[in-house]
Amino acid sequence: MNTAFSEEDLAFQQEVQAFIKQKYTPELAARAANPKTFKDAQIEWQKILFEQGWIAPNWPAEYGGTGWTPTQSYIFDNERAMAGISDVVPFGLKMVGPVIYTFGNDEQKERFLPAILSSDDWWCQGYSEPGAGSDLAALQTKAVLDGDDYIVNGAKIWTTYAQHADWIFCLVRTDSSGKRQSGISFLLIDMKTPGIEVRPIHTIDNYHSLNEVIFKDVRVPVANRIGEQDAGWTYAKALLAHERVSIAEVANSKRNLAEVKKLAQQEVNGGQTLYSDTAFRSRLAETEIELMALEYTELRVLASVSRGETPGPESSLLKIKGTEIQQAIQELRMQIAGYYCGVLGQDDIGHEFGSAARQAYMYGRAASIYGGSNEVQRNVIARAVLRV
Ligand SMILES: Cc1cc2nc3c(=O)[nH]c(=O)nc-3n(C[C@H](O)[C@H](O)[C@H](O)COP(=O)(O)OP(=O)(O)OC[C@H]3O[C@@H](n4cnc5c(N)ncnc54)[C@H](O)[C@@H]3O)c2cc1C
Repeated sequence: MNTAFSEEDLAFQQEVQAFIKQKYTPELAARAANPKTFKDAQIEWQKILFEQGWIAPNWPAEYGGTGWTPTQSYIFDNERAMAGISDVVPFGLKMVGPVIYTFGNDEQKERFLPAILSSDDWWCQGYSEPGAGSDLAALQTKAVLDGDDYIVNGAKIWTTYAQHADWIFCLVRTDSSGKRQSGISFLLIDMKTPGIEVRPIHTIDNYHSLNEVIFKDVRVPVANRIGEQDAGWTYAKALLAHERVSIAEVANSKRNLAEVKKLAQQEVNGGQTLYSDTAFRSRLAETEIELMALEYTELRVLASVSRGETPGPESSLLKIKGTEIQQAIQELRMQIAGYYCGVLGQDDIGHEFGSAARQAYMYGRAASIYGGSNEVQRNVIARAVLRV
């Protein structure tokens, strides 16, 4: 893609900036930052984007995508991140949506895509199980056919935002006789169905995003199965490729790095700013260079996604580098905040950003695990290169 902005691109950039300024009010930003009001604020913002027709830059236009060029998607994402706005919740718009429009039947497209676009349905992802994370094909949650329904029994774990979700997309075992990957199906399950229990998991970042989801004799219509029975592994892998691209979060890292740079020039210790410390500045520069290089890889992948293609193994590369850079920036921020990072949840003590820096650092440890751990992504790349 061409990264030099044309006149039209520059006009689009101004349009996006004006839109964000008008619609993303400080009041909405404050509610989005508060865990108690986060869900409502996030939905409100996503609905604003939907009404503007800007909710799904990654979808083909025929299904409600923006029809933007890769450059426009890039501009939008950068302006969003620079304004400090979180990306859309990925489970519907960036994960199951593309699976439904690629592999679902017409009825499923009509039924599920509009509510994903309008954010009326909040989705979560039921892949991992207590005994199946990296080795996802070891999953045991069972779905047994009974007339027009499957009866689902089992447990999913690490399910982000299951406590908010209306729907969960699940990988379930429908056959145990052959190769493990060949007996998996992909089901869409209404979270209100009797027999589903959501149990919270509290994490070291002092925030509740993770859950266990237990299924006891949960009836799911066969009509909610994507594609063929036992062929779910193919759809699951396509979804993971989309997930890994969105985890790279290049635009957010650009904003966070710019903020770190600013803070390092303000914080004074022993009469000197951290920015004047050669070792600190060298780490900062190293991270910035890696981020610039990653941005070009992301642009290449974005260009292929906007053509309706599923990303290849380069999504694993994006995931590894993107999360390493996120963690490097979080570490730099912790270094600036110093010992005030120890004061979790007490913004009134020390640096106002100390507690937020620590929380981001703690949650950030998970980035190299979720979406498939970085070790496993290295295996994916090795297989693609060595063809073993
Ligand atoms: C914050 C967070 C949010 C998450 N959200 C969701 C969600 O919404 N939905 C969902 O389904 N899942 C979710 N997950 C689960 C996530 O996908 C898994 O944690 C991840 O795939 C790793 O699986 P595991 O935890 O079982 O670790 P394991 O697979 O047990 O791995 C343990 C360690 O061994 C290493 N390892 C394992 N196999 C290999 C190998 N072959 N080669 C080299 N090293 C290996 C791993 O890299 C890791 O360091 C989330 C996880 C986190 C931390």
